[in-house]
Amino acid sequence: MFLREHLDWFCTSIHLLAQHLSIELIFEAKYAASGSASPYNSMGRVIAVANQKGGVGKTTTAINLAASFAAAEVNTLLVDCDPQSNATSGLGFVKDPERVSSYHLLMGAATAEEALLTTELDQLWLIPSHKNLIGANLELVDADGREFRLRDALAPLRDRFQFVVLDCPPALDLLTLNALVAADAVLIPMQGEYFALEGISELLDTIERIRGALNPELAIEGVVLTMFDKRANLAQQVMTELENFFGEKLCRTTVPRNIRLAEAPSHGKAALVYDPRSKGAESYIKLAKEIIERQPLAVSPQPAVNLTTLAVPAQVVGAEEQSANSTVRTEEHKGDAAVEEIAPAAKMDKSA
Ligand code: ATP
Ligand code: MG
Repeated sequence: MFLREHLDWFCTSIHLLAQHLSIELIFEAKYAASGSASPYNSMGRVIAVANQKGGVGKTTTAINLAASFAAAEVNTLLVDCDPQSNATSGLGFVKDPERVSSYHLLMGAATAEEALLTTELDQLWLIPSHKNLIGANLELVDADGREFRLRDALAPLRDRFQFVVLDCPPALDLLTLNALVAADAVLIPMQGEYFALEGISELLDTIERIRGALNPELAIEGVVLTMFDKRANLAQQVMTELENFFGEKLCRTTVPRNIRLAEAPSHGKAALVYDPRSKGAESYIKLAKEIIERQPLAVSPQPAVNLTTLAVPAQVVGAEEQSANSTVRTEEHKGDAAVEEIAPAAKMDKSA
């Protein structure tokens, strides 16, 4: 039994390591080939995960994409912009009205620094939400610069994170507007179903209007098919239709319907921590690679990519060999780490 557990841990760790290496080798190959700087030290790219349609996989995508960036040793911040707070609970944080949250950021009652929480993954931070965020829609209705609140609040953190992922609510309300104004790009999860395109023109119109008035640089990062069953004829037809509609913007990676992705949030974990060998975890790691490969080259000096930070747990290698920077925390740290409040800037800047 004891040996069996160790063997399981070992397999998991090797699997995570292999995924790490392949992500990092892509980074290295890309930047070595181009002779350009790595994006490791660049200003963060802010990606809003948005679709006003409910239940299409926004939160699942936001959590698992952010976790996959962090697993590639890239400092990543996930911001829960939805009063449902599913990204917050999905990373293991219980409801707490006293905790500083995205509501306080929008209301100007706290700084982003004060709202940061550490998570189970060393390079993933969270700004949580709370259901009182729903009130911000009304409370800000007459406020000056109400659409710029989130952008301005996140500005001081942008050079500390290579990716900032914003999980939006299922509405084109002031909260989503704030996210789209704060974002460099929007990632649109869509379900491969008959009504997939329903409402999408409204979202594209909104993006167009935001470009015209509030955020001229807002790009479409991509459209990702979620809960996708590639064997179903209908799913294939929808995919062809989306290819015709979105062209290159349709991500090559599709996310299959996978029970582990649905189970992981109830354990307060990203899928790559809950079950790194699952198809769901693998698909989001692939999506992260695809998005990383799409990024424009940055201009800052290139720090060495650390290929030696292994995700091997202490039980396997001996606690003393466990790297202080290991990407997934060891078993004995799990749980308490998820509710630890942070974190002065000095502790955060691991790769910058
Ligand atoms: P909302 O619009 O309410 O914010 P959402 O767009 O954020 O919803 P999710 O909460 O991510 O959607 O997903 C809706 C439901 O589908 C959840 O129960 C989630 O666990 C499940 N789910 C999402 N993606 C998958 C998947 N690929 N495989 C299986 N279940 C999934
Ligand atoms: Mg959601």
